[in-house]
Amino acid sequence: MSGDAPTESSREPTTRPALEEEGRHLREQLKELDRDESSLAFDDNFADSGQVAAEQGENAALAGQLREQLDDVERALGKLDDGTYGRCEVCGEPIGDDRLEAMPATRFCIVHAG
Ligand SMILES: [Zn+2]
Repeated sequence: MSGDAPTESSREPTTRPALEEEGRHLREQLKELDRDESSLAFDDNFADSGQVAAEQGENAALAGQLREQLDDVERALGKLDDGTYGRCEVCGEPIGDDRLEAMPATRFCIVHAG
């Protein structure tokens, strides 16, 4: 680092690649899950149907979570485009830099999280 202080306008150059990277990662995980699911469905000898159903249920739950995260990432990228990134969707206050750094796709400030 050259010692430049971080400013509002310097956030995007690091945030966008971080979000894009996270989106890529989430899509890969979803692809893996799809593959697992189809291999489970055709592998009748490997496990009894109850176990297969249980694993498919787990995969479906995990896939749902991943899709939600991917939604958040894509929404955050859209906000970067229209200049509303980094504000809480409930109160409209700026979200803390520490929080954005830890969770670039978060939509809420620490007060309204969860
Ligand atoms: Zn808030």
